[in-house]
Amino acid sequence: MLKKEMANVLPENFKIGIMMQKSCPECNEPIIGRADKKFCSDMCRNAWNNKQKRKENNYMRKVNGILRKNRQILDELIPGDKHTVHNDMLAKRGFNFSFFTNTYTTKTGKVYYFCYEIGYLPIDNNFYALVRRNEK
Ligand SMILES: [Zn+2]
Repeated sequence: MLKKEMANVLPENFKIGIMMQKSCPECNEPIIGRADKKFCSDMCRNAWNNKQKRKENNYMRKVNGILRKNRQILDELIPGDKHTVHNDMLAKRGFNFSFFTNTYTTKTGKVYYFCYEIGYLPIDNNFYALVRRNEK
């Protein structure tokens, strides 16, 4: 019998139950039981939660990898505590300008972008001023 037909022969409280019937986000089976139940079983809840965590971990791993690579590139380009490099030097090594760990704004309003302890400041003509902070 179709859900619609069934709804016509069942008492009102059952109809509500059918209309609001949810399916398990893990296995797509209908959920039977309490209205606030989100999964069909503990097994499905655990499986779903583990998948979410794995997705989260994959994303964090990706971002951490980019940040590490950025830091490595800056480290290679800055022999001491200060240096100036052209944008091309960073770009050709695959530097990703969208990712940094923190910023530092000077009193004059200049913004340094840091990848861990090494930062860069965009200056004129596509050059960057690199600085290394002594974080121990
Ligand atoms: Zn399930």
